[in-house]
Amino acid sequence: MPSSFYSSVGQYVDRAATLLDVEDGVRILLAEPYRQVDVQVPIHADDGSVLSFRGYRVQHNGARGPFKGGLRYHPDTDLDEVRALASLMTWKSALLDLPFGGAKGGMTLDPGALSPRELEAVTRSFTHAISGVIGPNLDILAPDVNTDARVMGWVMDAYSSRAGWSPAVVTGKPLDLGGVSGRVQATGRGVVAVTASTLTALGRSLAGQRLVVQGFGNVGRNVAELAAAQGAVVVGISDESGGRYVADGIDVPALLPQVGPGVLLKEVPVGDFITNAELLALDCDVLVPAALENAIDGSNVSAVRAPLVVEAANHPLSPEADAKLREGGVIVVPDILANAGGVTGSYFEWTSNLTEFRWSEEQFNRQLLDFMDRAFQSVWERHTERRVDLRTAAYMVGITRVAEATRLRGLA
Ligand code: NAD
Repeated sequence: MPSSFYSSVGQYVDRAATLLDVEDGVRILLAEPYRQVDVQVPIHADDGSVLSFRGYRVQHNGARGPFKGGLRYHPDTDLDEVRALASLMTWKSALLDLPFGGAKGGMTLDPGALSPRELEAVTRSFTHAISGVIGPNLDILAPDVNTDARVMGWVMDAYSSRAGWSPAVVTGKPLDLGGVSGRVQATGRGVVAVTASTLTALGRSLAGQRLVVQGFGNVGRNVAELAAAQGAVVVGISDESGGRYVADGIDVPALLPQVGPGVLLKEVPVGDFITNAELLALDCDVLVPAALENAIDGSNVSAVRAPLVVEAANHPLSPEADAKLREGGVIVVPDILANAGGVTGSYFEWTSNLTEFRWSEEQFNRQLLDFMDRAFQSVWERHTERRVDLRTAAYMVGITRVAEATRLRGLA
């Protein structure tokens, strides 16, 4: 990466803030995170030895509401990455007009190297370490890469052991702890909805489009499943082990039960095995990167043949790749719009916890599509009115709202 991840996101913020002519006082506040916590997270390993990890929680901006953002576990996670992801959450929440600021958490660890008990211990230790700066009206966590409902249940329990029953401190929880039906699929459902809206705006429709999905975790699986259910032809999918290609379309419902925890795509006998490099180069109508940040950068962007790229992952394109694709006429639907179904679903769960009222899955999905559609329309309007790319348009909508809240609160 030529520059830090945080400064890459900062370039997008700057470009939109300049077009909006945002005053210096506000820009100073938007440029830096409000709070960064960097803690030691010690546990006793199963063999009795002491293990110590680094854990981070970055609260980027809280002008519009409590901080909100996921928690990821990954060996490459560092403070810079968490700062960047926290910033993305600020603009995403504002773009969806949710009453949240932006935050992110992470721990530098390989969850595959820990036993379930060690993973639980590290989650509890981290939660206790940051318990002073999180809470239902302060900062709310959610699942992200390598964390899931089970991890959220541990976070909730560890926090509640000190603060009292507090389901609203995390979203993406198990249903029996206050989770809501629909949350697990929400990010993927939002990605598919925004993809369909973009295609409609371009005079096409999702049915019959040839889709390639990179990443087969929570987001990628659901994108593949829901897009196929709407008639898209999923020709390629991949995970960290490589990908699978079927020219006539993968039978996604048949594949899904075969791939799960501990089973990678390279082990599943479906279609042809391809590498991740080959996957990005497939001839298709829509490419959906749904794995990790900077998956497409200056080194591999020239291989991309899709005319439409939908960023299901956070920051899957480096700024260099983003610029090259735009120059080549490729339409890029930005992460802060495309994957915002996750935080929108989290908002429904949080609301449900605070009001102690259960939403039906049907109500959840209907509201989710309404929120995604409104956000898409606001971005598309800016895009056509101001003749800017979709990413700049999305940042312009988000920054306008955060800047106005900052002014109204007298912060700048
Ligand atoms: P996950 O851990 O469930 O899945 C990640 C997937 O990416 C796995 O299939 C993994 O094998 C694959 N992968 C890892 N390295 C790869 C590589 N080099 N090439 C191809 N595949 C690779 O994570 P997730 O929750 O699905 O999140 C994926 C992305 O979506 C992340 O950028 C995350 O921040 C973003 N996101 C997630 C949510 C959510 O609700 N989970 C919400 C918004 C955004």
